[in-house]
Amino acid sequence: MGRRSLLWTIAPPLFVILAVAIALVTGFTGRSVRSFFVARTAADLENQARLTMRDLSPLVAADDHAAIQELCRNIGPVTGVRFTIIGPDGSVLGDSQGDPRTMDNHAGRPEVAAALAGKPGRATRYSATLGNRRLYVALPAQDETTPFVVRTSMSLADLNSLISSINRRIATSGVILFLVASGAVLLLSRSLGLSLDRLRRGAEQLAEGNFAVDLDVGGPKEIVTVGEAMQHMSAKLQEQLETIESERNELKAVMGSMVEGVMAVDRAEIVFGLNLAGARMLDTATPAAMGRTIQEVGRNRHLTALVQAVLADSNTHEADIHLTMPEERWVQVHATPLLAADGTLLGALLVMNDITRLRRLETMRRDFVANVSHELKTPITAIKGFTETLLEDPPETAGERDRFLTIINNQSDRLEAIISDLLDLSRLEQETDMGSLAKTPTALAPLVDRVIQESVNDQVRAGGRITIACPRDLRIDANPSLIAQAVGNLLANALKYSPEDSPVTIACSLESGEVRLAVTDQGPGIAAEHLPRLCERFYRVDKARSRQLGGTGLGLAIVKHIAQAHGGRLDIRSRLGAGSTFTLILPHEDRS
Ligand code: ADP
Repeated sequence: MGRRSLLWTIAPPLFVILAVAIALVTGFTGRSVRSFFVARTAADLENQARLTMRDLSPLVAADDHAAIQELCRNIGPVTGVRFTIIGPDGSVLGDSQGDPRTMDNHAGRPEVAAALAGKPGRATRYSATLGNRRLYVALPAQDETTPFVVRTSMSLADLNSLISSINRRIATSGVILFLVASGAVLLLSRSLGLSLDRLRRGAEQLAEGNFAVDLDVGGPKEIVTVGEAMQHMSAKLQEQLETIESERNELKAVMGSMVEGVMAVDRAEIVFGLNLAGARMLDTATPAAMGRTIQEVGRNRHLTALVQAVLADSNTHEADIHLTMPEERWVQVHATPLLAADGTLLGALLVMNDITRLRRLETMRRDFVANVSHELKTPITAIKGFTETLLEDPPETAGERDRFLTIINNQSDRLEAIISDLLDLSRLEQETDMGSLAKTPTALAPLVDRVIQESVNDQVRAGGRITIACPRDLRIDANPSLIAQAVGNLLANALKYSPEDSPVTIACSLESGEVRLAVTDQGPGIAAEHLPRLCERFYRVDKARSRQLGGTGLGLAIVKHIAQAHGGRLDIRSRLGAGSTFTLILPHEDRS
């Protein structure tokens, strides 16, 4: 990324600072050592000058140049110092290393000039006489009657080599110090870098969701503290993520187990939420619907229009929508605007209720009313027509009049039968709804016998057409009169719809904890396509034949209802030309 590492950030400036600091210390120390030694040497030279001054005074007073020269030559080699004695006019009176006679006037030398002016003088310069760089110190002998100047000097060569050697050592120490400090910097930055690298790797693992990562990275206190803070943050983060996850799962579970379909659509009409029930209603799967438009997911222009209406006016809209895939369905859709906390419109929320059953019931109710009206209208029209004829245009013969009256009588019976069956059905429905069906433990065989006694005429009974196979100990917990009515209806149908001499069997059994009462005939049988609708009210395979036989089309509807009211069911098996078996299946009486 073009960024420098910690080492390259810290090391160069530190190296520069170290180098400058060491150079400054070395330079400063060198200068101090130099001035210390120069000051010491100058003090020594001053002392030497002062010491010789006493011996020189009488000689200068006596103007004894030879003695002065002699003294200089004696003490010069002993002390290693050059002595020069200068008169008040600047002329050289004696010199430990030169010949005064050949030496020029020294009044112009700065140290001498200062001493002649009465102050100690000092100078450092190259000596043409001795050919080296020297330190000169000149002191005036002012107390004396004859003033003179004693100048001492020393070569700086030895001092310089001493100072150089000290400077070299200081510089060497500086370099060693630099190397040690650099090594320390490298080690430190490397250890810091390693700790930071461990922190970085820990943070990366955290970002990938590995909350079990150990962030105890070691190193300096500050980095350890950062690691601890990150560890704490990771624990908090994990806690929050778990909370979010569990809330999301709860929401998902609630949405998933809802019977109503729920769909969320954003402002661009893109689906961003759909529960299982909704997906089923729209014949899709939740993952497939996500990110697709409502047009693609719903495939219904009314549904799209509903969403668009909500998005346009931010109001609630409702509509019953007819879906055809995967099967015909009616869905009541309640669409409300989805609003953010600040009231801005985010999209639309659709709650879908499957009202197919309700619609079907509605249709059934309408059909039933139409069917009842139609069924009642036929006998009423006949009764009315024949009654009017009898009144307005009475038949001439008694036979004709009896025929009319017989028709009126038959149609009244039919009307009564229909109304009686309808009343039975409605009473049954009421009792079932209210749970007020009175049940008593009932033995099945006597009940069947009673039905045959009451509803089958003597001739048929005597003809031996009916066979009963019912164990005497079989008992049911039921409403005896309703079960008798159901058995009576089934027996009547079997006798009605099969040839007069063909046998009918009533067989009772106990199978898998259920009591089965099967009425079997060897009549014409029923085609498979009619079987599912046979128990519908007023449904008949052959309308004319049923009417002719006095049927109302409500018999099997009543049987089915009675079975259901007892927690049982009616099973129908039939094949064209192979007879039919209608089995009433009821729960066995539990006597334990
Ligand atoms: P219905 O009063 O017409 O007999 P049901 O509800 O009892 O009305 O029966 C409905 C229709 O089922 C009948 O019209 C008839 O076509 C058919 N059905 C009922 N029982 C039998 C049977 N045992 N054999 C053949 N068809 C039958």
